[in-house]
Amino acid sequence: MDENGRTGEAIRRIVIVGGGTAGWMTAAGLSAVLGGTRIAIDLVESAEIGTVGVGEATVPHIRNFNAKLGLDEADFMRKTQATYKLGIEFRDWGRKGESYIHPFGAFGQPLGGVAFHQHWLRARQRGEADSIEAYSLPIIAARLKKFAPPATDPRSLGSTFSYAYQFDAALYAQYLRAYAEARGVRRTEGKIQDVSLDGETGFVQAVILESGQRIEGDLFIDCSGFRGLLIEQALKTGYEDWTHWLPCDRAAAVPCDSVEPPTPYTRATSDDAGWRWRIPLQHRVGNGYVYCSHYISDDEAARVLLAKLDGKAQADPRFLRFTTGRRKKQWNRNVVAIGLASGFLEPLESTSIHLIQLAVSTLLELFPERGCATADQDEYNRVMDLEFERIRDFLVLHYHATQRDDSAFWRDKAAAPIPDSLAYKMALFRDRGVVVKYRDGFFLEPSWLAVYLGQNILPRGYDPMADAIDPAEAARKLAELKAAVQSTAEAMPDHQAFLERFCDAR
Ligand code: FAD
Repeated sequence: MDENGRTGEAIRRIVIVGGGTAGWMTAAGLSAVLGGTRIAIDLVESAEIGTVGVGEATVPHIRNFNAKLGLDEADFMRKTQATYKLGIEFRDWGRKGESYIHPFGAFGQPLGGVAFHQHWLRARQRGEADSIEAYSLPIIAARLKKFAPPATDPRSLGSTFSYAYQFDAALYAQYLRAYAEARGVRRTEGKIQDVSLDGETGFVQAVILESGQRIEGDLFIDCSGFRGLLIEQALKTGYEDWTHWLPCDRAAAVPCDSVEPPTPYTRATSDDAGWRWRIPLQHRVGNGYVYCSHYISDDEAARVLLAKLDGKAQADPRFLRFTTGRRKKQWNRNVVAIGLASGFLEPLESTSIHLIQLAVSTLLELFPERGCATADQDEYNRVMDLEFERIRDFLVLHYHATQRDDSAFWRDKAAAPIPDSLAYKMALFRDRGVVVKYRDGFFLEPSWLAVYLGQNILPRGYDPMADAIDPAEAARKLAELKAAVQSTAEAMPDHQAFLERFCDAR
């Protein structure tokens, strides 16, 4: 062992177990960088076992991933039946009948070095401000079902937002498969029956298929889904269960026919025992009900889901079971778990694919070419743990900040304990609108603001520094911004028209 705790062999053979979204994103990401080197990449998947078959809504970071692969956006959108996404609409989360959008973009610009929302809070107290939504270009564009890519001039209002995609996950995996195979990834179809461990180090040496074929590797990426074939079944890494904070444990999913042009946003509507998603693609709408089995049966959940579809169901509902939480170590010995094998946070904010992407890029940054080292693993696990915890807190906020009290599920959720790390963030916001800052990761200030304000969590005061600007001057700037947001959004093309023009979507 060297001073970094390096114990394993130099990495010459990588084996990816699983060919769902996680497996093929990992294969594409690794082959883009390692494809021309001496490192061989194998991927094993089993058509008989299949994939989880959901996961259609993304966050803007996916664009960086696709760009790093060098994908052509129009081609990718055509082949995955993708639509654009400017944010997520939350219906009935604060109170029933209310709606807010978590936008992929800012609420205004700082004035006099003080955050825009602080001026808005002061103007609101004085009765001189509209809803915070009126100052967000992606929200107003989404409400009008408009879309245009962000402007490149950073001084322009049109540059104050980003966007993501809603796509067919099976088609995305196929698309990335072609990409990865073209860069040398070898795919083996078959069911893994056994895992061979080194008696001394406990490292995985090989996976053995039902056919008897043995596939050896130096580094294994476990993308086998909820079952965690290597990370859990072979290495017994352990799982940190977060159901006491996020108790939903099942989902029913069903695609349906589209009855209107796709909206440039995903919708999450709260329901009596959880919430329902609606994700419009070019060729259909994906739907699901994420629920807590303590409060509703599978049959009843399916009945509610089917009754609330836009169009005709295209299949019978599929049921999925999960336990919210994360693997105690995402990287253990020579196995890195990516995707559902690494843990699961419900898809309320479309974060699983983002976590896959973060895992692939962090692994590449710390790639253990000369053998697995403790220091690399510790750093990888620290980065991933932090992002899981940030997302967890953000999701718990949605449940905790509800004023719904019309079903046992919502009454229990509002009263349930929350992580200390979230209580601290909420205390800061409630006092004078301070949003805990992160320099990286996904959920930055506008995301927290959208949920706090959208679910009626209003601070008692505002940052006194906002008083440095004359209130009449601030009110004038707010009014100007609101007018500019409205006219800029109205001038954008319809989302459907843009899709047709850009990627021939009909
Ligand atoms: P899987 O899709 O389960 O793939 C596992 C792979 O391992 C398969 O290829 C399987 O054949 C293979 N395998 C397993 N065992 C063996 C074996 N013994 N031998 C050989 N091969 C084997 N994420 C988002 O970002 N946005 C969303 O909107 C979203 N919605 C979701 C909704 C629900 C209800 C759920 C449960 C998840 C959602 N997710 C979402 C998460 C997203 O679906 C997953 O992160 C993503 O699909 C990755 O899954 P995976 O590849 O890890 O696992």
